[in-house]
Amino acid sequence: MSDTELDVAIVGAGFSGLYMLHRLRKMGLKATIFEAGDGVGGTWYWNRYPGARCDIESMEYSYSWDEELEQEWEWSERYSPQPEILDYINHVADRFDLKRDIRFSTRVEGCHWDADANRWTVMTDGGETVSARFVVMATGCLSSPNKPDFEGEADFEGDTYLTGLWPHEGVDFTGQRVGVIGTGSSAIQSIPIIAKEAASLTVFQRTPNYAIPAHNHPLDPETVSEVKADYHAIRDQAREEAAGFVGSKTEHEELATELPPEQVREELEKRWARGGLTFMASYPDMGVSLKANDMAAEFIRDKIRDRVEDPETAELLCPKDYPAGAKRMCVDIHYYETFNQDHVSLVDINATPIERITAKGVKTSDTEYAFDSIVFATGFDAMTGTLAKIDIRGRRGAKLSEKWEAGPLTYLGLMSAGFPNLFLVTGPQSPSVISNMIVSIEQHVEWIADCIGAVGAGVIEPLEQAEQEWVEHTNLIASMTVYPYAKSWYLGDNIPGKPRIFMAYLGGVPQYRRMCDWVAENGYAGFAVDGSPANAKLDPMEFLEVDERLLPLIAEREAA
Ligand code: FAD
Ligand code: NAP
Repeated sequence: MSDTELDVAIVGAGFSGLYMLHRLRKMGLKATIFEAGDGVGGTWYWNRYPGARCDIESMEYSYSWDEELEQEWEWSERYSPQPEILDYINHVADRFDLKRDIRFSTRVEGCHWDADANRWTVMTDGGETVSARFVVMATGCLSSPNKPDFEGEADFEGDTYLTGLWPHEGVDFTGQRVGVIGTGSSAIQSIPIIAKEAASLTVFQRTPNYAIPAHNHPLDPETVSEVKADYHAIRDQAREEAAGFVGSKTEHEELATELPPEQVREELEKRWARGGLTFMASYPDMGVSLKANDMAAEFIRDKIRDRVEDPETAELLCPKDYPAGAKRMCVDIHYYETFNQDHVSLVDINATPIERITAKGVKTSDTEYAFDSIVFATGFDAMTGTLAKIDIRGRRGAKLSEKWEAGPLTYLGLMSAGFPNLFLVTGPQSPSVISNMIVSIEQHVEWIADCIGAVGAGVIEPLEQAEQEWVEHTNLIASMTVYPYAKSWYLGDNIPGKPRIFMAYLGGVPQYRRMCDWVAENGYAGFAVDGSPANAKLDPMEFLEVDERLLPLIAEREAA
């Protein structure tokens, strides 16, 4: 087989693409990764802003598929910083000799299905054309940074930075007047670090976020040894918990709405002391009842009021018009305390909107702020943005971006009807961004590898009806939760004109895994292989354990 004839073309060399390549190679298949960047790491290659680190604990935010790798790698902190995660990914790529099959600095611009040959033609920005039986889009959920257009930007005489495309050589803000636009996770991580260097720091906030303290610390060797001794069981446990990490399964049977408020606060206090993303997994009704959720929301607001000295600033930092957890929960290290420093200030751009960028800085409706640097921490065109940039054409030349104009349509988040032999790793309508992404990536990569093995020289694609039912099921589950009550990137709200659809699957990581396994075990139910539809049909509700007590709470919420 020549270099331009592949079994599988993989797009992207982050956690997803690297494991995909390793897995396919072990099956004896010829696979190549095409990566736009000049190194491996994906998210951790591009997001080098100060303070970038994981918000799932490092011992769990790492691959589980090689025991020696798991045992030999030493994480330094509970939530390790970006340079260490990038070192880890490079270590994996070198240890498994993956780089020889990666084409760096090569962006895939188009993938066209050739129905006569049953192959994909993959086109790169270097003008190269490659033919592959299968394509795996390992292009990431958060890999297209969103840079909103502000009028007058070209006039600015200082420097501008985007958190998702941070300069590799780093930025020294010492002595500078810095403006940061945005208050999502990237801003919450970078603001405390930038404040340490800057002469002044002004933060422009549109929507305040809920942040839980990380209580980050160096990992002590004893804890590491304990985890490593029991790693297998811990990984199994993570796969069995709602969001794919230990502590994400609801711990208590009782409903918060049926308990004395003091008891709920006591529990939240314990979780606050523990820190991190397990905070919301206290009671089963936190994610569905606005009343239960408000107990958590008010608890967090009180903590913000305790941490921020100036009452006016504290109130501005308190989210009040959406449920806790409905926008991606943030994990912070001294974020709120940063606003107690004299040289740090907060501007509410709802009260005084940004009118334009000027030669000197940012002009709001009442003030012109002068800056040496402006940092845009304005997020991503999530889930679909990166795929939309690739000219993907399936049967009869249909474009994926046109098919998805009113929102993504997939079966299980793994494939889209009319686009045979093209897989998505952590695609829309799979648990993806709602989970520990490494757990979800591994599950998808393993499922896809097995599927490619099973299909062999054939062709697999989802049935339109199965896809439609899966999308409806995904939407139904989302509508049972409080997620749609926030404007968030989960729903495409951050990108003007993007259709409002909840883009991840909320039925739970273990339930979802069981559905995917069942589908494979039942002759790829919901798919057609070589034109023959499988006989079996997936009923997702059979896999979910619906807590009947929550139904009246949902009805009550809907009625209100
Ligand atoms: P990515 O890492 O996004 O890699 C995709 C790759 O595809 C990129 O390198 C990109 O250059 C390449 N690519 C895209 N399009 C093309 C193209 N057309 N041609 C060639 N190459 C292309 N998740 C968690 O679970 N826990 C966390 O703590 C966490 N922290 C995060 C912190 C930040 C700052 C961000 C942005 C995300 C975080 N995430 C986290 C989500 C994170 O994206 C995933 O955990 C994971 O790293 C995704 O890996 P991936 O390989 O699927 O995608
Ligand atoms: P984000 O959560 O989407 O935050 C973007 C911020 O920019 C928001 O505050 C948003 O305000 C603001 N913004 C966007 N457009 C704006 C405009 N035109 N004018 C003014 N403000 C604007 O993006 P992110 O912080 O990069 O995080 C994205 C996701 O990546 C996270 O949710 C998480 O999943 C992942 N991540 C994880 C970590 C981690 O802790 N490990 C760190 C970074 C990122 P609105 O809220 O009003 O839209």
